[in-house]
Parts: sequence; structure tokens; C-alpha cells
Amino acid sequence: MPTLPRFDHYIAGASVPPSSGEYLPTEDPYSGEVWAEVARGNAADAEKAVEAASRAFESGPWPAMTPSERGRLLWRLADVITANAERLAVIEQRDNGKLAVEVTAQVRYMADYFRYYAGLADKVQSSVIPTDKKGVFAYTKYEAKGVVAIITPWNSPLTLTSWKLAPALAAGCTAVVKPSEFTSGSMVEFAKLFAEAGFPPGVVNVVTGLGPEVGEALVLHPKVPHIGFTGGTAAGKKIYEMAARHLKTVTLELGGKSPNIVFDDADLDQAVKGVVSGIFAASGQSCQAGSRLLVQESIHDRFIDKLLAFMKDVKLGDPKAPDTQVGPIATRPQFEKVMGYIEIAKKEGARVVLGGKSRPDLGAGQFVEPTILTGVRNDMRIAQEEVFGPVLSVIPFRDEADALRIGNDTVFGLAAAVWTKDLKRAMLMTDKLKAGTVWVNNYRATSFTSPFGGYKESGIGRESGTETIKEYLDTKCVWMSSDLDVPNPFVRR
Ligand code: NAD
Repeated sequence: MPTLPRFDHYIAGASVPPSSGEYLPTEDPYSGEVWAEVARGNAADAEKAVEAASRAFESGPWPAMTPSERGRLLWRLADVITANAERLAVIEQRDNGKLAVEVTAQVRYMADYFRYYAGLADKVQSSVIPTDKKGVFAYTKYEAKGVVAIITPWNSPLTLTSWKLAPALAAGCTAVVKPSEFTSGSMVEFAKLFAEAGFPPGVVNVVTGLGPEVGEALVLHPKVPHIGFTGGTAAGKKIYEMAARHLKTVTLELGGKSPNIVFDDADLDQAVKGVVSGIFAASGQSCQAGSRLLVQESIHDRFIDKLLAFMKDVKLGDPKAPDTQVGPIATRPQFEKVMGYIEIAKKEGARVVLGGKSRPDLGAGQFVEPTILTGVRNDMRIAQEEVFGPVLSVIPFRDEADALRIGNDTVFGLAAAVWTKDLKRAMLMTDKLKAGTVWVNNYRATSFTSPFGGYKESGIGRESGTETIKEYLDTKCVWMSSDLDVPNPFVRR
């Protein structure tokens, strides 16, 4: 039998086999074939990686570099990413089954995140603080927190890692990355490119394996002061609790149940496209998916007809083929979860007006038809729980107040969108929606320039934009005395 490609840990600039000797299979979600093996890490491997990152943080060339020098390395890394984008995208696509065109575009765009933070590395300004004390002056100084643990999911592995890694490195931190056990290959290969860009060994390390076996060891490690996590709300809460025990800081990017709100005055043809890309891009496996469509009652039937007409000839199939529009679900457990939610919705009284079935005839049978459910009430489980699949729940509303009540009636608060031509209405909605991102007459725009993150149970902290770098920095206040005559503390003046 031919041996499968193996992805080992990457620690201190070298491939390191798992100390257990065990590997996890990694499957192509379209063909169902096990195409590679990934090191099954444990606490001993996490320890090795944190020690390597800690050494690189404390000694050698990395801590001696100026912010401008770090910026130049990040810029060079961006060029290396561009040169390797196709190769990394092929690995990532094979692991998570997203459309090849989408993954390739995402990996290419990643280079811009590193360029943005390359520029920011030497622009974080400390300040001199006017004080009420005589003979002293005080100033702030920003210092890299240290070794950062970065734990990421399977839906956009390299992109979501870059959202954390680029600002962390610009700040001067070192990192240990734990990618999803389902999609580790692209991150292991990416880590090897840092040497080519000139980063010292140990600045970026990767340990692969399962959350409870490796992720928890990283979160609890005494030499890790900050955790950057993207994933489900359940794992996010657990990580937050573990981090709280040691008063560590966290950035948490978690789940969502975002409302996509269409008013009767909107350009309905544009809104249809926004609703479709909001929920069916990446087969609905995206945190910002617009999984609740709130439509004004007066246009409900007309809008649903338009949606159904738009979806009529949608092509499911091989995600590598350029004309495929909807690919498979990334993992077997996720496929079962999505199908389970469709059954729950039907039992709750929702009506399936599009899809609703799996497609065992396609690939390895891990396909769910794009599904539209009408007659959904916001108190149903299908409207409250994150499905993370191509399932759209349609909920009618009367007016602005009703749309806001329904839109905000969720534990999540990642994103929302409003479709209207009325500026006053757009302003009201953007003010009152409780979400970290609100789009008006578009859906899904994100950029390295703009903060992204959640209200409520969708997360803590923000990624992208200039403020994010502070997540990886500690603030130190220095009191400098210009008067060498220290007052005697026992003599009252
Ligand atoms: P998940 O929470 O199951 O896993 C995410 C990562 O956490 C994986 O690497 C996993 O191994 C690790 N992990 C799991 N349990 C852990 C533990 N106890 N300790 C440490 N690490 C642990 O999520 P998933 O199924 O891979 O991804 C889907 C979820 O990610 C969805 O809920 C989605 O909304 C969310 N997501 C959020 C964003 C965002 O920016 N807000 C972006 C993408 C995905």
C-alpha cells in the first residue's frame, strides 16, 4: 500500500514527529479519501513547542530586532505567501472541500494582512503623560506579551490564523499555532515558509492534534499569556474559563446567527444576491453566515419567489471544478449536524421551500442541498442555534421595530445586514443592531483594515485594523525621576 503524505509538528524550525508516534487521518471531503496523516500531538508536544517559542522570545535575534526590522520580515513573508499561494491553497482545499477558486483567492489575500501589519509594526506610538507629580515624568511603553497560542477552526484555516499571527508578530510576540485536526496540512506547510522569509527558528511553531489533547495544554501552559481563538462558542467558553483561572487574556471569535434584513424599499434583485452569498457561500460554513433572513411582510412572497428563481440552476459538485457553485460539507460530523437541524426545523413546523435533502449521489455523499425554510419563528431552535451549513431560515417582520426586536433576539452578535434605500432607516438600524459588523446593501465585506468580532456570545476582542495589535501588547508605565534627591519617607513635609 502506498504511504500517505505526513504532516508532522513544526517546532523550532524543524519537522518533529509526535511523541506518541500516533497520527490522525485527514480526509478529502469531496472524494472521502484519506489523503494524508497529521501528527496527533499531546501535552509533551505542546510543551516542546511552547519552550521553543519562549526561547525565541527571550533570546537570539527576534527580541533584538527593532519594530521596523520585524516589519521588513513581515513584508518579505507576504511576498513568499504570494509565491506559494497556489500550493498552499491546493492543500487547504483538499482538507476542507471549499471551492478551489474561493480558497485560492483567500490565500492570495492573506499576503495583504501581513503587508498591513508590516507597515503597522513601527507605528504603535507610546506617549509621555502629563502628571501631577513634581520632578518626574511618566511615559507608556508597549511590550510584546510573549508566547501566543493560536487555535483555529477548519472553515478558513490559513486566513483565520493570519488574522492573529500578523498582528502578533508585528507586536513582537512568538507563537504556537494549533490548527483544526481536520485541516492542519496548510498550516504546517505555511510555517515552513517563515524561514525562507528570514524569521528566526521558534518564532512560529505548529502543533497539530485534538483540542482537548493539545489545545488545552497550550491554553493552560504557564508560559502562554494570551490565547487567540476562533471556533465554536462551546469551545470558546471552555477556553475562556481555563484562561480565567490564570487571568490570561483572550481574543475569541465565535459563532453567529446573523440576521440579513430586507425592507420593502430595497433593490430586491441586489438583495437576493446578498442573501444568497450571505448563506450559501462556503456551503454556509462561515461564522458570518446570514442564516436568518428577515423579510418585510409586504414583500415576503415576492422576495421568496425571486430567491427561488435565482437558486434554480445552482450547481453542486466537485469543488475543484471552476463552474461548481456549492461544494460539500467539510466533515462527516458537520454533515450529520446540518442534516439533523433540517429535521429539527421540520418538526418545529418550518416549511422546506428549497432543498432539504442530502445528495448521496455526489462525491462521497457529504453534500447538503442549499435549503430555504419558511414559516420560521425566531423562538425555534433553527432560528436560535448555529447550524454552520447551507440552511436559511426565513422570518417575516412588520416594521423597523419588529425587525430590530427579532434581529437582536439571539445570544449571538457577530454580524447583521440591512437592505434599504432609505438613509434614515439605514442609520436607525445600524445604530440599534447589536452586532460587531453591520453591512448596509452588501454582505460579507471584510478587510485587514477593519475590526471584526462579536457582541454577546459571538466573542471577545476584535481582529484586523490598527487597534488589534494592542491585543498582543502589554502597556507599561515608566516613572522617571529627574530629581535624584529621593524624599525621606519618614519625614513629613
Ligand atoms: P471548534 O470550536 O470545534 O474547534 C476550533 C478549534 O478549537 C479546533 O482547532 C479545535 O481542535 C480546538 N478546540 C476544541 N476544543 C478545544 C478545547 N477544549 N481546548 C482547546 N482547543 C479546543 O470549531 P470548528 O468546528 O472547528 O469551527 C466551526 C466554528 O467556528 C463555528 O462555530 C464558527 O462560527 C466558528 N467560527 C468563527 C469565526 C469568527 O471569526 N467569529 C470564524 C470562523 C469560524
